[in-house]
Amino acid sequence: MTWEERWHPLREEWVIVAAHRQERPWLGNVVTAPSARLPEYIADCYLCPGNTRVSGLRNAAYRDVFVFDNDHPCVSPDAPRELAPPPGIFRSRPAEGVARVLCYSPRHDLTLAELGHAEIVTLLRAWQAEVRELGARPEVVSVLVFENKGEVVGVSNPHPHCQIYANNFVWKTLETELTAAERHFAETGRVLFQDVIRSERADGRRILYEDETAVAFVPYFARYAYETYVAPVRSHPSIETLSDEELAGLARALKEVLVRYDNLWKMSFPYVLVLHQAPTDGRPHAEYHFHVEIHPPLRKPNLLKYLAGPEIGGGSFLSDTAPEATAAELRAVSNVHYRSGA
Ligand SMILES: [Zn+2]
Repeated sequence: MTWEERWHPLREEWVIVAAHRQERPWLGNVVTAPSARLPEYIADCYLCPGNTRVSGLRNAAYRDVFVFDNDHPCVSPDAPRELAPPPGIFRSRPAEGVARVLCYSPRHDLTLAELGHAEIVTLLRAWQAEVRELGARPEVVSVLVFENKGEVVGVSNPHPHCQIYANNFVWKTLETELTAAERHFAETGRVLFQDVIRSERADGRRILYEDETAVAFVPYFARYAYETYVAPVRSHPSIETLSDEELAGLARALKEVLVRYDNLWKMSFPYVLVLHQAPTDGRPHAEYHFHVEIHPPLRKPNLLKYLAGPEIGGGSFLSDTAPEATAAELRAVSNVHYRSGA
């Protein structure tokens, strides 16, 4: 039983770990996972190759990855420039930026966990290219790459894809992390995330994957039950500067984690996956360490972690599981995907 508070050094906040509560009676909603096998191609999927989207534009007959400008962008070079003056102390400005969609595969029925090594490396290179191109735009100061996977996180189309937002502001979570990293660097001369990796290795219980170039672990201070960080061993401010060897390592680490997720309950595991990168503001950001954070919303098979009073109201997390226990569950399952037939 773990019942304590743990400091989240990247967010500089406390997480209450109350793992003695996981078995409390539950009368709320459960999530049922669709188990039917999807077809490889669907004629009315707006992400499948060769199909026409709502905008009237036609997808390429792509063979690996495919990027296009979002047909319903939240930020855009075309966002209104002339805005109504805000009342009183309020402020507003044009929602400028770029929103894109990146398809991982022409196959409608696959997920990132089921892609082969070479395909995942191709995807990582595509992320690099997008961050490089969009980050160089004068109005863009941060590029947010994220994948929402599963109906429980609001995704209606299972075709494997992520979204890319290039914005004129730095997202709050990344701003918080950057401030913590800058302070740590100024005080110790060390990269904060390197100290996190060092501490995880010293303990070892929450490590899910490790090689010369990449590491994956359930962090000591995890807020979600099966939260996992995947990172290069060397510090890079963003994915842009990773070498071929480091991309290959990151692909192996990512695959390992995602396969274990799916194998845990023999279901396609929902999650929110986010690339954490330094702002593209022209500064070097030697204090920052690029990594991928994966936040699965389930805390048991078919049972959602609800964000409520502590999280939405108070802004800090209460976790019902000990990260050591969930990491042990993930370490215990196979690293060969249950749908691979192997
Ligand atoms: Zn599709």
